[in-house]
Amino acid sequence: MIFTTSWDDGNKLDLKLSKILLEHGIKGTFYIPISWKFRSLQDKEVKKLSKNFEIGSHSVSHSDLTKLPSRQLNHEILKSKKELEEIIRKEVNSFAYPFGKVNGKILDSVKAHYLFARTAKELQTDFPTDLLNCGFSVSITNRPRRMFVSSGVFGLRNGFRWDKIARKLFLAAMKNDGVFHLQGHSWEIEKEKNWDKLIDFFDFISKFDDVMFIDNGGLANQQSNTL
Ligand SMILES: [Zn+2]
Repeated sequence: MIFTTSWDDGNKLDLKLSKILLEHGIKGTFYIPISWKFRSLQDKEVKKLSKNFEIGSHSVSHSDLTKLPSRQLNHEILKSKKELEEIIRKEVNSFAYPFGKVNGKILDSVKAHYLFARTAKELQTDFPTDLLNCGFSVSITNRPRRMFVSSGVFGLRNGFRWDKIARKLFLAAMKNDGVFHLQGHSWEIEKEKNWDKLIDFFDFISKFDDVMFIDNGGLANQQSNTL
């Protein structure tokens, strides 16, 4: 089975997170907006991250792209790619839609410039059928999401626990030889005091054999390998 992770928004704490990922041999993609007030990573830190991890675009301004006129879409989608490529001196092939929002016009533009794009659809454990409209398994947040309860993955009796959901979905992906995809924001892990739970989860999955660790862009390679 495949294990991948993605981390959004380019907070300074991505550096702390990257160390934890490296220690566990876990790969992943950091999605960085170009100019957004909540991005705190500097260009040179993005470059440093790119030595061990994939860097993906998270648009220029982190706006809801579905609300922008067409002429601005190209700027958000292509300019962000070019700017990041300039910083890291590597090709940028993955994109995360801000707020997970996407429509046909956005999809067409992303398709022209990227091989992989991520939405905000949770609860996915199969190999994605559409690499430009790809969800993930679970997000690291203590905010309760009704979908996990209604899907029967998780009851609310003992409070909402993302880490318990993650273990269940990881085992489900193992069973189906699917994909487990963990998503999060380092600032939110800090705010909700989830670092220990995250490390516990990585220790848990480290005990399993037959897990292939790849970044999000690796999913596109996996697909072309099997065609
Ligand atoms: Zn974001």
